[in-house]
Amino acid sequence: NHDFDVLTAARSWRVERGEVPTPAEVVSELFARDVLTLEQLKARLSKPAYKSLRATVERGERLDPGIADTVALAMKTWAMERGATHYTHWFQPLTGSTAEKHDAFVSPNGDGLAIAAFSGKELIQAEPDASSFPSGGLRATFEARGYTAWDPSSPAFIIRHSNGATLCIPTAFASWTGEALDLKTPLLRSAEALNKAVAPALHLFGASEGTRVGSTVGAEQEYFLVAEEYYFRRPDLVMTGRTLFGARPPRGQELEDHYFGAIPDRVLSFMTDAELQLYALGIPVKTRHNEVAPGQFEIAPIFEQSNVAADHQQLLMQVLSNTARKYGLVCLMHEKPFAGVNGSGKHCNWSMGTDAGENLLEPGDTPHENLQFLFFCTAVLKAVDEHQDLLRISVAGASNDHRLGANEAPPAILSIFLGSELTDILDRIESGEGGRGPEAGLLGLGSSVLPRIPRHAGDRNRTSPFAFTGNKFEFRAVGSSQSISFPVTVLNTIVADAVQTLTAELQARLTRGLELDEAVGELVRETYAAHKRIVFNGDGYSEEWHREAEEERGLLNLRTSVDAIEHLGDEKNVRLFGGFGVLTERELAARQEILFDIYFKTVNIEGETTESVAQTMILPAAVAYLGDLARAGGSRAVRETTAEVEAAADELYDALGTLREQNRALGGDTVHEKAYHMRDQILPAMAGVRQAADRLEKLVADAHWPLPTYRQMLFVK
Ligand code: ADP
Ligand code: MG
Repeated sequence: NHDFDVLTAARSWRVERGEVPTPAEVVSELFARDVLTLEQLKARLSKPAYKSLRATVERGERLDPGIADTVALAMKTWAMERGATHYTHWFQPLTGSTAEKHDAFVSPNGDGLAIAAFSGKELIQAEPDASSFPSGGLRATFEARGYTAWDPSSPAFIIRHSNGATLCIPTAFASWTGEALDLKTPLLRSAEALNKAVAPALHLFGASEGTRVGSTVGAEQEYFLVAEEYYFRRPDLVMTGRTLFGARPPRGQELEDHYFGAIPDRVLSFMTDAELQLYALGIPVKTRHNEVAPGQFEIAPIFEQSNVAADHQQLLMQVLSNTARKYGLVCLMHEKPFAGVNGSGKHCNWSMGTDAGENLLEPGDTPHENLQFLFFCTAVLKAVDEHQDLLRISVAGASNDHRLGANEAPPAILSIFLGSELTDILDRIESGEGGRGPEAGLLGLGSSVLPRIPRHAGDRNRTSPFAFTGNKFEFRAVGSSQSISFPVTVLNTIVADAVQTLTAELQARLTRGLELDEAVGELVRETYAAHKRIVFNGDGYSEEWHREAEEERGLLNLRTSVDAIEHLGDEKNVRLFGGFGVLTERELAARQEILFDIYFKTVNIEGETTESVAQTMILPAAVAYLGDLARAGGSRAVRETTAEVEAAADELYDALGTLREQNRALGGDTVHEKAYHMRDQILPAMAGVRQAADRLEKLVADAHWPLPTYRQMLFVK
């Protein structure tokens, strides 16, 4: 008999009944309760110290080392008053997760314990043992050490657990030679690059001197929930985050009864609990709903500055995972935990905004605003067209490969959905037609107002990897388990590049004596004509699109992550990242190495897990069932079932032999060679094993089947 129980799973829901605050209490008391905001610091610092810190936080000015001690003291006091016992420099290594090493606020002092000093020096810099974080060779020739450096632009916060709390100080992580070993440093550099490129453009549009520009990001997180009872009975889920076996259930998502349906009580309780914790962390979560697949859900925050949004995204995943366990559930962030069922993405809504709160991708109501909007919008078209490869690389990873191009997920080919209204406007500008169009209504540059472009127009087409949604772009190819830091770093950098080029051209035209509206009109026309091949408003899932994209439009189709990662070190990319000071050639090479390494290790673990589960769980189940059949005598039903099971078991055994052989051979010495071996040998060998195993699942007596099935995991709630 299988050693799990569906009823236990259905009933294992533990409720954590807590006081649920009213919305008014959330606003006045709970929100950002565990965040050391500038407001909090103001009350704890001298006026000059506060002013100096604020200049650093808000305007990116260099931190005055003279105030570090007072800030550190204020932080420590604030944290200890809130029950923190430890502090940590919280950072984002190149694995895509977060890292923390805790230090206690108490420490031994000769004859007992005392409250430890926490000085400015300790606030600003720490030296975790960095040797076990991937460095892609950046440390190999130097010391193995790395250091973390405080990022004052993201506020410190407190993470609570059942027995206390820890002060977390967001930090960057670098080698002693100053090379970035993390995801945050390039993100911060790219935000600065964007500011430097966009501010001069805005100036030409009349913005006041000193206007700062940043990127804003709101990331929608999709995830699955499964009962703990099932999760821990599936070595594949535990080891790899996805099911490596599992026959399709008789019912999948075809009834479409789950999406936006009523949320089950246990799930809603979990969501509410998680949201309250996120509020306390100052994370502005806003929406929650069921997603398309059974057992799949989504949570989305309101957008923030990209650096803060990236930190908050990591925290959000952590809070969801931890909270699920309190309810007897496990939260799966993997892009494709169940084959044949919708995968999970993390739609990254991205825009640019000024420090005065102006959204540069907002069409606006005046001719002037429209000019500016069209300028920045075509800059994004240019950026995406010229750097399709980088956007594809930024979402590369073994797990996202199962999603991109599969059920209801964008293809690996980059294209932009603009919607019919905006496309019509740009087509008319290009053809010089202007005037009243059927879709666009009144049109004219400089002299009259563009039609209002409806918000959310883009949501009607879910098949596009990159969609304009009224006042922002939504990058939908990002995977659910990914950190958004690198995708946003790429977006910031490629748009900075396009804006910089277009600004120079605009400036040249103005110098030649053109009026602003004429100059922008010309530039938008030329840029759109050069890059409109990237615009596609049709069905991105269709076969025809793949053909058209590659054959007629010459768009890149980097089907697998290995194909994509191969291009990271291309000359064009070295120049781009180097030119904007976002990543040096060495830092870029290190990232490429790490991407190959993580790809190889991920698939390697999957290959080994497939082998072990098939050998030690599935084959024995088939053999046991064959024993039953042998004892059951010679009826035709028994004879024919025996023959079928035997055939499938033999197929499994043979496929297992092939996989075992490939698992032993690693395909080469470099991570590069190993990654290819994984893609070209291991994944197909795993598929062979799975095919036979899934056939057996449909033949072997349920009582013998050792793994919880898709039917159980997705439908027993
Ligand atoms: P919907 O999903 O219904 O289209 P919204 O358009 O309001 O909802 O928002 C989707 C996500 O886009 C949210 O996370 C939201 O905060 C984010 N978003 C909205 N405006 C911007 C912006 N200017 N920059 C970045 N993200 C934004
Ligand atoms: Mg969505």
